Amino acid sequence: MSTLPKSTQVLVIGGGPAGSTAATLLAREGFDVTLVEKAVGPRYHIGESLLPSSMEVLELIGAKEKVDAYGFQRKDGAYLEWGSETWSFQFAQLNGKQKHSYQVRRADFDKLLLDHASSQGVKVFEGIEVRELSFNGTRPQSAIWSQTSGGNSSGELSFDFVIDASGRAGLMATRYLKNRRQNNIFQNVAVWGYWKGASKLTKGPEGAIGVGSIPEGWLWAIPLHDGTLSVGVVLHREAYKAQRSANLKEFYLNAIAECPLVAELLTQAELVSSVEAEQDYSYTAESFCGPGYFLVGDAACFLDPLLSTGVHLANFSAMLASASIASVLRNEVTEDQALSFYEKSYRQAYLRFLMMVSFLYDQKRGQKAYYQEAQDLTHNDYKADAANAAFVNIVSGMEDLTEVQDGIDNQVTEKISQRVAKNLSMDDVRENYDPEALDPQIMQAMEGTFSFSKDLSVEAAIDGFYVVTQPRLGLGRVQHKAEELLSSELVHS
Ligand SMILES: Cc1cc2nc3c(=O)[nH]c(=O)nc-3n(C[C@H](O)[C@H](O)[C@H](O)COP(=O)(O)OP(=O)(O)OC[C@H]3O[C@@H](n4cnc5c(N)ncnc54)[C@H](O)[C@@H]3O)c2cc1C
Repeated sequence: MSTLPKSTQVLVIGGGPAGSTAATLLAREGFDVTLVEKAVGPRYHIGESLLPSSMEVLELIGAKEKVDAYGFQRKDGAYLEWGSETWSFQFAQLNGKQKHSYQVRRADFDKLLLDHASSQGVKVFEGIEVRELSFNGTRPQSAIWSQTSGGNSSGELSFDFVIDASGRAGLMATRYLKNRRQNNIFQNVAVWGYWKGASKLTKGPEGAIGVGSIPEGWLWAIPLHDGTLSVGVVLHREAYKAQRSANLKEFYLNAIAECPLVAELLTQAELVSSVEAEQDYSYTAESFCGPGYFLVGDAACFLDPLLSTGVHLANFSAMLASASIASVLRNEVTEDQALSFYEKSYRQAYLRFLMMVSFLYDQKRGQKAYYQEAQDLTHNDYKADAANAAFVNIVSGMEDLTEVQDGIDNQVTEKISQRVAKNLSMDDVRENYDPEALDPQIMQAMEGTFSFSKDLSVEAAIDGFYVVTQPRLGLGRVQHKAEELLSSELVHS
């Protein structure tokens, strides 16, 4: 192992998609970045289905060609047997240039991104765990690290900024801020395994993720490039407890048998892995950043895997945090401005997905209601003849990306803020939905979920900053962009 430096401008803790992306972006801007990852790759991770928005970020970090060339399974959309309806959506209908994504074995994908970070100038150290942080007041200033494999060295590394990309472990949120809250509505358990010899899903777009609902939850089927099919079951914890028989495998196989979409794919297949389970994975930190630190990806929050948003939110928040730090280090904005921008833009993306997923969980509502909800959660006016356009734009992650790069409308628009506020107070649910049809437990749980986010008011949401990627990554001011556009219009008129 080469020796860790004693100091660095930016320390990134964790080498998953969030950490690698943030570190690469900052190194490409010329900053001195050190990344430490406690595992030695390739390390296993669940979460294989990517959204098209991740392709955009891969392009930004210069890794898209490597990912394209790797041979991952191409994903053109999704196919759902949800409630009493069957539907699919195609990424081909997106307006931008990203019209597909990939289904990836995360061990390979995460290693590729980490190696890429190294090739872009990040000082990457695998097998190094941050054990402790030291603070100057509330500002973290150094990390005590130790080696987890191949030796027992340890040391201290000081930094100007730290990006906590430690995933579910959430070093800052769980150990120091103690501000992680479980989302009551998604008290789910996921159980999964890998199959060989499964049939190909012939319904829906090429390489689609197949999603099938069962009375108490849902299943995923994700085809991977090594010929295996990743199959998982997600159930509410109470339903899981009630149904769990003698062993996990039996429970898993029973759940698959309940879902015709997935069961049919597996008629000739063989389970080739152990059966794994995770629970209590849906949570939010009450704040995502503070003096000298940013929580990115799962270290800040995790939703629920229904819309495969985890890697998107990891990449997206990494981009927001890097743009924020780059602008602070270049004295383009104050640290307070950057922190406020980051907090609001990441929280908005997270909340929008939270709302989308919680609406989808009510399987009785149906496509039309989901499309309407999506339209209400965007400031864009999608054409009525493409009723699902807003939905596809949101669930592909593209809506988040375009919004933060759109400097004319504020990054958090009034319309969406009002919508969020309305949902937070649950007025809409109370006014418009038949109380008989709405599970009181869901309603109670949603109130709990949103209660700590009430500060996301219309006034507070508008900051006047947006993400600039050219010629350098950073934060731009809406006013500047408006002036630029105005002067270019004057020149052309
Ligand atoms: C059941 C389930 C299914 C999912 N399905 C999908 C899906 O289909 N699509 C999708 O996009 N997402 C999915 N996800 C979510 C996705 O896996 C995560 O959102 C994503 O991995 C987050 O990336 P990250 O970089 O924030 O964290 P991680 O990928 O978890 O990376 C964090 C890294 O930090 C390291 N680390 C932790 N502590 C320390 C420390 N103290 N010092 C040094 N290193 C440390 C860890 O070893 C780890 O490598 C799923 C999640 C679950 C639970």
